[in-house]
Amino acid sequence: MSSDELLIFTDLDGTLLDHGSYSWAPAQPTLDQIAADDIPLIFCSSKTCSEILELRGQLNNHHPFITENGSAVYLPAGYFDAGQGSREGEYEKRLFSLERARIIQILSELRAEYGYRFRGFQDMSVSVLAESTGLPPEAAEKAKQRDCSEPIQWLDEEQTLLTFRRQLAQQGLRLLRGGRFHHVMGETDKGVAIQWLIQRYQQRWPERRYTSVALGDSPNDQGMLEAVDIPVVIEPARGEPLRLEHSDRVIYAGAKGPVGWQNMMKMILASQNTNSNS
Ligand SMILES: [Mg+2]
Repeated sequence: MSSDELLIFTDLDGTLLDHGSYSWAPAQPTLDQIAADDIPLIFCSSKTCSEILELRGQLNNHHPFITENGSAVYLPAGYFDAGQGSREGEYEKRLFSLERARIIQILSELRAEYGYRFRGFQDMSVSVLAESTGLPPEAAEKAKQRDCSEPIQWLDEEQTLLTFRRQLAQQGLRLLRGGRFHHVMGETDKGVAIQWLIQRYQQRWPERRYTSVALGDSPNDQGMLEAVDIPVVIEPARGEPLRLEHSDRVIYAGAKGPVGWQNMMKMILASQNTNSNS
C-alpha cells in the first residue's frame, strides 16, 4: 500500500450511475477492487438519505454519505468517535442547511409575491415526479423524502432566474444547477460537506495521509471537485464538460457516466499502486 490513503467522493446521477438507465454496471470491476482494498467510497449526491441508503445496500457500501448536495452528512454509528450532530437511527446526522419546511415556505412566498413559474418536488405527485425523472414510483417516493433542500424545474424566463437567485440569497438560500433540476438549499454545497468530512477522517486517524479524489459531471459538483487533491470531470449526458477555473490538477474523463468513472478510477488506482511500489 501507498503511504497515502485514498478517500473517494463520488457524485451518483450521470457519474457513477448512467444518466438514463441509472446503471453502474460498467464501473463494477473497479467498485470490486475499491471494496477489496477497503478504500472509503463516499456517495455525495443531490439524492436523499432514503435513496442513498437503498443504493448503499445494493452496492454493499458501509461508509459515510452526503445527501442533498451537501445539505447533510450521515455517519454510520461508531464509524468515527461519537461527535456532533443528532442521531438518526443507525446514523449520526449533521445538517449544513435550513430545514426543508422553511425552504418551501420561502419559495411559496416568492411565488405569491412575484408570480414566478416553477415546479418543485413539493408541487409534484409521486407519479408526476416519476414521469419527469424516469424513476420508478417507489424511487420517486424516496426522492420526495427530503431533509433540507427542494429541487425545482424552472418554467420561467432564464433572465428572471437571476433575480430569483438574488432574492433567495437575501434569505440565506442558494440555487444550484444539477443534471435535471435546480436545487434550492442553504449556504452549503458538496465541497463544504466533504471538507468537513475529510477533517473528520484526519482527526480520527491523524497518522494517515489522505489523498482525496472526487468525480462529478455537473455544476453542482464544482465545490466538491475544487475541494480535493484529484478532481475528475465526467463527461455530462448533455452539453460541454464542466470547466474548473481554480484547479490545475483536473482530469477530464472524456467519457460519460460509469464508463468514464471506471476508466478514470482504474487509472488512479493503478498509479497509486505504482507510487507505492516505487
Ligand atoms: Mg451528476
